[in-house]
Amino acid sequence: MLFAHDTEMSLTAAVVLANSAEEPDTLTTVAELDTFFADFRYAGRHDRTTAELEEVRALRPRLRTLLTSERDDAVELVNTLLAEARALPQLARHDGWDWHLHAIDPDSPLHERIAVETAMAMVDVIRSDEMSRLGLCAADDCEGIVLDLSRNRSRKFCSTTCGNRTAVAAYRARQA
Ligand SMILES: [Zn+2]
Ligand SMILES: [Zn+2]
Repeated sequence: MLFAHDTEMSLTAAVVLANSAEEPDTLTTVAELDTFFADFRYAGRHDRTTAELEEVRALRPRLRTLLTSERDDAVELVNTLLAEARALPQLARHDGWDWHLHAIDPDSPLHERIAVETAMAMVDVIRSDEMSRLGLCAADDCEGIVLDLSRNRSRKFCSTTCGNRTAVAAYRARQA
């Protein structure tokens, strides 16, 4: 494992969330937000309202900027996010998760918690100088973010769809 489990989980969730804004948008309903919440085993407040959905949707461009920034720019964004939320790191153990960091109250709105959790995860990425683990999808016409946590840095595509699409295109090019 490259980072602590909560860091990897937060990064993965942030990338999925940021990428959901790519066409076609895959976070347009409260039900889709529910699925995201369950997939990443979030705990804490979850309003299941359109207002909550809109706040989470509105966070996506900011996450994208953070995840695709140069290291020094990312530092500025992380510090801003943590200061805005008055983050207070505390270790917690609950619901089958071993000790991990919480830096914001579980009763805070979901979008604020996601913002702070992503910022805390980026603290690890920046400190260990691993920004190269984040990049853009290698497929043509895809701006999806790729998070490569693999040992041999083998991940190039944001999704298996993009990987397959590229393989098919390369095959066709060889046949032509
Ligand atoms: Zn927790
Ligand atoms: Zn892609």
